[in-house]
Amino acid sequence: MAQQITLIGGGLVGALLAQQLAGRGFAVDVFEKRPDPRVAGFSGGRSINLALAERGLHALRQAGLADDVLQRAVMMRGRMVHTRDGRSGLQRYGVDDSEVIWSVSRGALNMLLLDAAEAAGVRFHFGQSLAGADFDAHRIRLADEQGVERDIDAPVVIGADGAGSALRAAMNAYAPLGERVESLGHAYKELEIPPGGTLPAALVGDSGGHDQFALEPHALHIWPRGGYMCIALPNTEGSFTVTLFLPAQGAHPSFATLPDATAARAFFQHDFPDLLPLIPDFAADYDGHPVGTLSTLYLQRWHLDGRALLVGDAAHAIVPFHGQGMNCGFEDTVVLASLLAEAPGDTAEVFAEFQRIRQPNADAIAAMALENYVEMRDSVADPHYLAKRELGALLAGRAPQHFMARYRMVTFTHLPYAYAYERGRAQDLLLEQLLRGSTQAASVDLDAAVAALHATLPPLPDPLHG
Ligand SMILES: Cc1cc2nc3c(=O)[nH]c(=O)nc-3n(C[C@H](O)[C@H](O)[C@H](O)COP(=O)(O)OP(=O)(O)OC[C@H]3O[C@@H](n4cnc5c(N)ncnc54)[C@H](O)[C@@H]3O)c2cc1C
Repeated sequence: MAQQITLIGGGLVGALLAQQLAGRGFAVDVFEKRPDPRVAGFSGGRSINLALAERGLHALRQAGLADDVLQRAVMMRGRMVHTRDGRSGLQRYGVDDSEVIWSVSRGALNMLLLDAAEAAGVRFHFGQSLAGADFDAHRIRLADEQGVERDIDAPVVIGADGAGSALRAAMNAYAPLGERVESLGHAYKELEIPPGGTLPAALVGDSGGHDQFALEPHALHIWPRGGYMCIALPNTEGSFTVTLFLPAQGAHPSFATLPDATAARAFFQHDFPDLLPLIPDFAADYDGHPVGTLSTLYLQRWHLDGRALLVGDAAHAIVPFHGQGMNCGFEDTVVLASLLAEAPGDTAEVFAEFQRIRQPNADAIAAMALENYVEMRDSVADPHYLAKRELGALLAGRAPQHFMARYRMVTFTHLPYAYAYERGRAQDLLLEQLLRGSTQAASVDLDAAVAALHATLPPLPDPLHG
């Protein structure tokens, strides 16, 4: 008889994991708190999007879903940086169009994954929320949307129930997991730029020949402003989802000093004058959309022997500034599904091994995501940062076996995050030494720099089989 696995949460990671496990012969039941989005609609109809990169795509390829997802995605070639003086310029992510990221709709992706999991034999139970667990009795408690509770058998339960995981709370109450949640102190709010066609022609201007988009569609737009920023990702129907990131509390500007659309409009007029006119429903968006908090979750233990395990955000929620939370969670599913398929009867060993493999990588991407906030909101407009970037690109061109920008390692390869973090640190040190504070990459003797690179760092591993 197929081994039974109970999953909590049918979000992005839960649905993909369920599909992969069912495909490997497990009997999978998923209990999801929300109603079925294919019936009820997703997130109140708002377009919320995410950046999908190579790690996530790799997992989707394994699941046979990459082509379907990419058909519903918008390619982003790089960062379009919008400076205070109204100028904009594209900083490419990779060397060419083989190194791009993709903007995907969270709702559409989730629904596609639910369909795929169901087709693989997964049984979904929507409107069913985990309310507690009795790990000694191997049972969990579920509550329906009316609050009616029932207990069911669940000898092996996996929590893909997100950053506020109820399974994590139940596990922690049974045996402490060593949980630490570090708030970033910054929060976010989503706003929307509608398709260009609905904006006055004078505002849209030249959007690169893509009439329906108000801005260049094939880019992740950033308005860096030092301690805060806005970003915008394109949606297939021509709109952009804008996210404002600001300190939650404290001196102006913060969400505390911008409690409503009136205050926020004056702030946008001053700080984002080119962006504001593209958001015609600014007041309704600002007053109607919630302020989201941002934290990093660290756990000492991800599992309770072979009885319960946490994956995705439930185990390692990170801040979104590297666009890797989902990608990392998707990478989790590949590792876990293959470990379970190899030793289906030994979940205690599999869960321990899963944590051993994934935790150093989750810690590394958590650290890099925090560092990337500073880079995005500040350094992308800093001359020394730009000189380092330029010198890095020159070295990567001259010695591709020895130098690869950390962003590329994270975004376009399968090299473990922990490797990318360490290698990135070593490369950064070398760039600092070569530049000696200069803002001119051209001031560096490239032959000597390549020689120093070869002398200091070993060749890179195969990037797609790292
Ligand atoms: C502003 C922002 C931007 C982001 N941008 C990116 C990006 O560009 N790229 C990227 O890779 N990542 C991004 N992320 C991170 C990404 O959203 C998460 O890493 C990803 O959603 C994690 O998936 P998950 O399935 O683990 O959790 P979730 O997506 O949170 O899904 C959890 C699921 O569990 C369900 N659930 C919750 N509690 C219960 C319960 N008690 N019982 C049953 N079900 C329950 C929920 O309803 C939900 O369906 C971003 C995050 C934020 C906040």
